[in-house]
Amino acid sequence: MFNLVIFGPPGSGKGTQSENIINKYGLVHLSTGDLLRAEKNSGSELGNKIKELIDNGNLVPDSLVEEMVKKNVANNKEAAGFIFDGFPRTTTQAAWLDNMLAEQGQSVTQMLALDVDDNELRNRILERGKVSGRADDQDENIINNRIAVYHKQTQPVIDFYSAQGKFVSVDGIGSLDDVFGRISDAMDKAMQN
Ligand code: ADP
Repeated sequence: MFNLVIFGPPGSGKGTQSENIINKYGLVHLSTGDLLRAEKNSGSELGNKIKELIDNGNLVPDSLVEEMVKKNVANNKEAAGFIFDGFPRTTTQAAWLDNMLAEQGQSVTQMLALDVDDNELRNRILERGKVSGRADDQDENIINNRIAVYHKQTQPVIDFYSAQGKFVSVDGIGSLDDVFGRISDAMDKAMQN
């Protein structure tokens, strides 16, 4: 199995590049942002709680996201591997993922982090907000909060995978094809090992 963690700040291109990775490598895409938005839009009580957090640019509790990931991994027993997109976002989630995969004799193969500076992120998210309809993409204060939350709570996840020798940084600036070329090179290298 190839289990990829695609990592990076909000707006770094994780979702877009995940589509390219699926097309080339046939992995199952597991985006916690997509799963949470689906729950949010369902109008359930849980969905309303999630909405409050997401729309303000804050993280949803670890246990809730972990539950969703577990369910979706269990539902894809035949997968050749997963792309974890937007997960793990805290070191607690990263440790949980290691344990969950270990229970099935699996592990994270590689963590690819898309490197994009904060100014570029702000511009990209505002552009996306014009078409995405996402409330959290349309307000500059909320975008700034998401970037701050990333630096404070999510960036430490890099050290977690670095310590395991699984962290690879990819320059996320350039055309979609250029960035995907860098991602493919890194994945192909990991597959040869
Ligand atoms: P982006 O990368 O543009 O921020 P996502 O779709 O990955 O978009 O996430 C949107 C929002 O969903 C986050 O700001 C956060 O509120 C919530 N979220 C997504 N994944 C997680 C996670 N692993 N843990 C906690 N909250 C999450």
